[in-house]
Amino acid sequence: MVIKTKPLEPLPVISEDTVLNEAMECPTDRDLDTRPLAEESSFAFWQKDIPEEYWRLDGSQIIARIAAARKRLGRRCVVLGHHYQREDIIQFADFRGDSFKLAQWAAERPEAEFIVFCGVHFMAEAADILSQPHQKTVLPNMSAGCSMADMADPEDVYACWDELTEAGITDVIPITYMNSAASLKAFCGRNGGIVCTSSNAPNVMDWAFQRGKRVLFFPDQHLGRNTGLKRGIALDQMALWDYTLPFGSLGGNAPEQLERARVILWKGHCSVHNRFSVQQIEKARRDHPGITVIVHPECQMEVVQAADADGSTSFIADAITEAPAGAQFAVGTEINLVSRLARENPDKLVYCLDPVVCPCSTMYRIHPAYLCWAIEELAEGRIVNQVELDEDTRRDARIALERMLAVK
Ligand code: SF4
Repeated sequence: MVIKTKPLEPLPVISEDTVLNEAMECPTDRDLDTRPLAEESSFAFWQKDIPEEYWRLDGSQIIARIAAARKRLGRRCVVLGHHYQREDIIQFADFRGDSFKLAQWAAERPEAEFIVFCGVHFMAEAADILSQPHQKTVLPNMSAGCSMADMADPEDVYACWDELTEAGITDVIPITYMNSAASLKAFCGRNGGIVCTSSNAPNVMDWAFQRGKRVLFFPDQHLGRNTGLKRGIALDQMALWDYTLPFGSLGGNAPEQLERARVILWKGHCSVHNRFSVQQIEKARRDHPGITVIVHPECQMEVVQAADADGSTSFIADAITEAPAGAQFAVGTEINLVSRLARENPDKLVYCLDPVVCPCSTMYRIHPAYLCWAIEELAEGRIVNQVELDEDTRRDARIALERMLAVK
C-alpha cells in the first residue's frame, strides 16, 4: 500500500554550497510518498535490527518525528544527502552534493557533532576520515553499500600488489577512486598512492605519472580507462586485471603485457552506469536533433566517446542548471539525480538515456524510517550505526586524501 500524502512539489534550485536549513530544524513541510519500511524491505539485505515501531511509520509520521528530534538536537546534528538519494530522503538534507563535497563539507563544519550521512558506506567512511575527532558519523542503514566498491576486496588488491611485485612489475603508483573501502584509501596512503574523484581523476593521474612509470587504478575500470585516454594513454598501454582469477594468474595478463602497461585497470564497474549504451545515445539524437548528451565517466568508454560531454555528478548538475531555457539534455547517470534535475529545470528538456534505468539499489536502502530511528536515538543521547575507523586506517587514508586535495 502506498501512503499518499501531499503532492510532490519541486525542490528549490540550489547550488552545492547552499545550506538548505540554516536553522538546523526540519527543513521541509513537504510530505512525499513514502511506503512504510515493512512494505519496502522485502529485499534480503536491508538492515533488520531496528525497533519494531519504525517498520510501520508512514511518511507524515516520520516527518513529524524527525522534525521533533532535530529541534532537540539543534546545530549539533547535520544531515547530508548524496545526489543519488531518493527524494523522500533528500527532503531532509541540510546539504547535498557528491561524495567528496559532502565529506569536505563535514570537515569544514566542526560545530556539527553528529554527521548523519545519507549515502553509502564508503561515503560515511570518508566523512569520518576527514572530520574532526569529536565529530561522529552515522549511516542510517548499515546495509547501504556500493556494489562497485565491493568489487575491490582489500585482500584481492593486496594480493594483486604482491603478484605485481613478484613479477617484477614495479614503479607502480596505486590510485583508488573515492568509491572504495577506507582500507584501500589507507593502502594508497602507505604505498605512495592517492585517491581520486570523478572530477579530478585526470589531474590525479598526472600526479601519479610524475612519481611512477605506471598506475594501478581501482575499483572502476571505466573511469580509469576513460581517464587514461584523456591523458593520451593508448588502449594497448592499458591492461585489465581480473581479480576473480586465482593468485599467480597475473589477473589474466602475460608478463610482457603488464610490463608494457602504463595503466593497470581493476575489473570493477558500477552496475548503474554500466547500463548506458551507444544505441541509447543514437536514439536520443534521432528523437531530439541537437540534444546534448552528457554522461558520467563511470560509463563504458564507447558511451563516453559518443557523448557530447562527460563529468561528475556536480559537473552534470551545473551544466544543466546553468544552461539557457529551452536547452535539451539526455543524461547518463543515476535516475534520482536526473529526475530531480528535470523537476528543477522545467524550462528545459532533461531525461535519462536509459528508459528502464533503475535507481542505485544500495543508495535506495536509506529509507526515511532508518533516518528517523538514527536521529531519534541521537536526540536520546545514544549513537546507532556509527561509522568509525581505527586510528591507523584513518591516518593512512587521510594521507591519500590529503594528497588528492593538494592536486588542483
Ligand atoms: S551509483 Fe554505482 S558507484 Fe555509485 S553508489 Fe551506486 S553502485 Fe556504487
